[in-house]
Amino acid sequence: MKKIARMKLDRSISVADFLKVAFVVNGPRYRGVWSEGVSASLAAAGLEKTVANAAKCALAGAAARGEEAHEIFFSDEGHVLVLELVAPGREITIDEDGRIVRRPRKPRLEAALIYDSEHDTEAPLPEFCNTVSEAIEEVVERPKTRKRLPTWSSVVPQSPQFAQRKFAQRVGGAHFEPPSSHERSLARELEDVQSRSFLRDLKKVGIARVDELTKPAEGGEDAALQERIGHLKKVGLVDEEFAVVCRSKNSPVIRVSSQEEIQLMDQRGVRCQCGRPLSEEVVAELISVSEPGQKLLDHSRWMTIRVVEELLALGLSSRELLVSYSERGDEMDIFLNLLGSLVLLELKDGAFELGHSYSFSTKFMKYHAVQGVIVTSEYVSSDARETLDEIGGGRRFLFARAREPRIEFRPMLYIEGLDSLGPGLEAMVQGAWTRMIYYAVRGLESVGGLRMERILLERLGL
Ligand SMILES: [Zn+2]
Repeated sequence: MKKIARMKLDRSISVADFLKVAFVVNGPRYRGVWSEGVSASLAAAGLEKTVANAAKCALAGAAARGEEAHEIFFSDEGHVLVLELVAPGREITIDEDGRIVRRPRKPRLEAALIYDSEHDTEAPLPEFCNTVSEAIEEVVERPKTRKRLPTWSSVVPQSPQFAQRKFAQRVGGAHFEPPSSHERSLARELEDVQSRSFLRDLKKVGIARVDELTKPAEGGEDAALQERIGHLKKVGLVDEEFAVVCRSKNSPVIRVSSQEEIQLMDQRGVRCQCGRPLSEEVVAELISVSEPGQKLLDHSRWMTIRVVEELLALGLSSRELLVSYSERGDEMDIFLNLLGSLVLLELKDGAFELGHSYSFSTKFMKYHAVQGVIVTSEYVSSDARETLDEIGGGRRFLFARAREPRIEFRPMLYIEGLDSLGPGLEAMVQGAWTRMIYYAVRGLESVGGLRMERILLERLGL
């Protein structure tokens, strides 16, 4: 997966200093797009390629750009790195009472690495930051009172709305019990729709006789059912018991956990009510949904476990999830802090119909979610889609500046069927990373009439 890692400097520098720093970092190891252009132009004009000359020529253009500045570097190892002076905006955090507060901040120097998480790490970023720190030492005048070198720290995107919900949950208490590894493997078994509907029916009746369930029907389906029951017993979703059924009354007289117990009782001379020895009566197998099975079927806990498992497998941390969360009567399946955006996931074992879309829309609006995801074991009806797309349409403005068709933002995602679960969630996470990468590179201006961001996205294969 293509990702971007960011680090910020603990101090602010001016645009003029930024340009000098970028020019100094530019060299055989890190080739800067803008810096290379300036160097070539200076050389073509027969001027010396010094920091002072570069700064003089660049500053005129920089003044027009305000307090923002960007430079993109390609390292000799093929990494793509971004150096960015982020304009003063308003930092959003939450206070100790869980309220959103906005603090003005100074322009901030940030460095970023765009990498492929499958075969690359974030290691080149701290190295690059060191090079930038050295360049700052070289060209930025340090006040004599300040002895400490600049330090870098990781930027972790946090959705203030998510932080608010997390705060509310801390006050209200957690609701989701983390699954055991046994539960996780049972949840996978429950992905099978036929097993699930069999278990749901069995749960309704409580206990059933296997010989009655598998009575030969037309088509000979009993063998398949027999096999299914055997499998569900083996994995631990179904418990088995035995009953002695009286031949005269055709009703169970004794219920025990194993056939051996019946043999023992028979040896000890225990008889049926009708007087026959137990060995002459019918022994029937009884089945019921096991305790872990019942727990997983309640509130479709199995589905929540599967979705959480997939999200964690995609590199999200459990700190970024709020699972089975309820607030003032609203039941939310999963809140997710996806790279600083609040995503609301709704899980439905069955079809997601128009009625479901109304309650989901209300929660989506109320909690200011940026993206909504419907995960259903069946399908999302077309009228439900229409309603949700209309509600979600209002969120598009958040990413309105992304004119790249490949960076398209979809406020509502529909994952239909569990086979689509992994790929659907992966597309959601990759979409968020791609937008972040796009926003990191879009600041780069055109060089010689070329749209640099397009070249860069091409280079990144996005
Ligand atoms: Zn009997």
